[in-house]
Parts: sequence; structure tokens; C-alpha cells
Amino acid sequence: ADIALQQAQDKAVRYELYTEDLDKLQLRKRTLINDLPNAVTHDELWIDYQPKAALNTGRIEHFEALIRWHHPTLGLIRPDEFIELAERSGNISLLSQWMLIHVCQQLHIWNQAGQRLSVAINLSASDIINSQLPQQLEQLLKTYDLAPRQLAIEVTETTAMQDMSQAVNILKEISALGIVLAIDDFGTGYSSLAQLKRLPFNELKIDKSFILRLNTDEDDRLIVRSTIELGHRLGLKVIAEGVENYETAALLFKMGCDYLQGYWIAKPMPSHQVLDWLKHFKKLTFDQ
Ligand code: C2E
Ligand code: MG
Ligand code: MG
Ligand code: MG
Repeated sequence: ADIALQQAQDKAVRYELYTEDLDKLQLRKRTLINDLPNAVTHDELWIDYQPKAALNTGRIEHFEALIRWHHPTLGLIRPDEFIELAERSGNISLLSQWMLIHVCQQLHIWNQAGQRLSVAINLSASDIINSQLPQQLEQLLKTYDLAPRQLAIEVTETTAMQDMSQAVNILKEISALGIVLAIDDFGTGYSSLAQLKRLPFNELKIDKSFILRLNTDEDDRLIVRSTIELGHRLGLKVIAEGVENYETAALLFKMGCDYLQGYWIAKPMPSHQVLDWLKHFKKLTFDQ
């Protein structure tokens, strides 16, 4: 009986802990959702830029823009946490708009400094079914005097597949402007290859979960090699994200991958470091 009582008490304690954690989590989520609109107006957001190296030249002209949020009391919040909350609470377009304008402004500044770079922005499902988006992008290119190729848009395969017919039309319009389209996190979502072929993508980004253990995991190597071949057959450039060491980079080079992105090249950095970092970057080379 004592044992049974002890077990029941243990369970009760565990249950309490569990609900307490759950409450805390709910509270955190609610706080973040509530404070999200303020983040934009209170200057709590900034953008880090992470380079992508072209393997045919060993050089860098492309970056990905990654949003950052410093919450006044909760500190640095990762986008993996707040982007999903923004999507569910209907606030994502606020963030996407903010990103689009700030990235275009930044590209304009770099152009004026004599560096014609290109930057990719991550957009969500609700962004790419917004029929205003193509016109808006066209207007931004004009306002900031950017070549269309300086702007790229990354969407995850799941995002692109959600409202197919609407997304196809809008993505086609964006593509017709000359803006680059990339499928992000490839291999983690669901997509039929037939549908993928219908979408006007230029680039395929292999998810980092396949890249992180590339030099030790046979299966990952097989998947990545096949994905690169598939991408090329579909006429896409292939990017590997999550490249953390030389061995992985050299393997991807041998496999014919087109671009590398990852901590081995550089971690995402604030805009004011980019030009200086570029100046010191040495062309990539690999031992054959
Ligand atoms: P993503 O678009 O797949 O971006 C790549 C993520 O991998 C970034 O995380 C980047 O910091 C991280 N990463 C890059 N290289 C390495 C590496 O070598 N090793 C490892 N372990 N990680 C690496 P981050 O910045 O935390 O962003 C996470 C995700 O949040 C992004 O994944 C993207 O889906 C989303 N996100 C970020 N900014 C935005 C945004 O402005 N709008 C939207 N809608 N989503 C965004
Ligand atoms: Mg991305
Ligand atoms: Mg990704
Ligand atoms: Mg991701």
C-alpha cells in the first residue's frame, strides 16, 4: 500500500510539473504573439546575412537574409520559434513586409558601395498566395534600383504545395520579373515531383539534416548525391545548407553541388560586417 501511495504521489508531482511547464510554455507563446506587432515598431528586429559560396568560381555573391528578434524581457528569440507563431496569429505578412523593404534598402546601399550582391528572403505560405506580391516586388526593384536577379525568394516545399493553383500563378509572375525562386529545406516536406516540375523554381536547397552528417552517414550521402542529380535533371541549381566542415564541403564539391552555405563558410552576420568580411574572404579551393 505504501508503494502504491508513493507511486501515486510521484505521479501527482510529475503531473503538476508537467502542467506547470505547459502553462509556462503557453504564457511564453502568448507573450510572443502579443508582442510581435510591437517588435516591428519598437526596433527590436534586425537581419543577419549568411553567405552562399558558388562552387564553380569559389566566390561569394549571394546571401540569405535571416530575421532576428531581441525581445525586451525574453531576450533573443530564434526564428524557428516566432515565425511559426507569426504564421498562426496572422502576423507573418507584417514581418515579411519589413524584411522585403529592409533587404532591398540594404542591397541598394551595397550597390552604391560598388558591391552588386544578391539576397534571398524566406517567405511563408500566406505571402505567396497574396496576389499583390508580384506588383509589390516589381515596385521595390524600381524604388531601390535593383536588378531582378539580386533578389531571391525561398519557400519550403510544404509552403509551396499548400494552395497549389494560387501559388503557381503568383510564383510564375514573380519568376517572370526575373526574381530567383528557391525551394528551401528540400527533403523534409511532402511534394510530388510532378508538382515540383510545374513550379518555376531556379534553385533547390537540400535541407541541413542531410548535410550535417554527410561525411559519416552512408544513407545521407546517397540521398544527397541523388538529390543533386535530380535537381540538375530538373534544370535547377543545387545548394547545400548546413555545411560545417571542410570534409563535407569537399564531398559536395565532388558531387557537383553548385552552392554551399553553412558555418564552415560563415555564420549569419549583421549587415555592417558583410563588406569587410567579403574583403577578407579567400576564394574556395579543394584538393583534387
Ligand atoms: P532556413 O531558411 O532553412 O535557414 C537556414 C538556417 O540554418 C538558419 O537558421 C541558419 O542560421 C542555420 N544554419 C546555417 N548554416 C548552418 C550550419 O552550418 N549548421 C547549422 N546547424 N545551422 C546552420 P535560423 O537563422 O535560426 O533560421 C531558422 C529558420 O527560420 C529558417 O530556416 C527559416 O525557415 C526561418 N526564417 C528565418 N528568417 C525568416 C524570415 O525572415 N521569414 C520567414 N518566413 N522565415 C524565416
Ligand atoms: Mg531559407
Ligand atoms: Mg533551409
Ligand atoms: Mg529551415
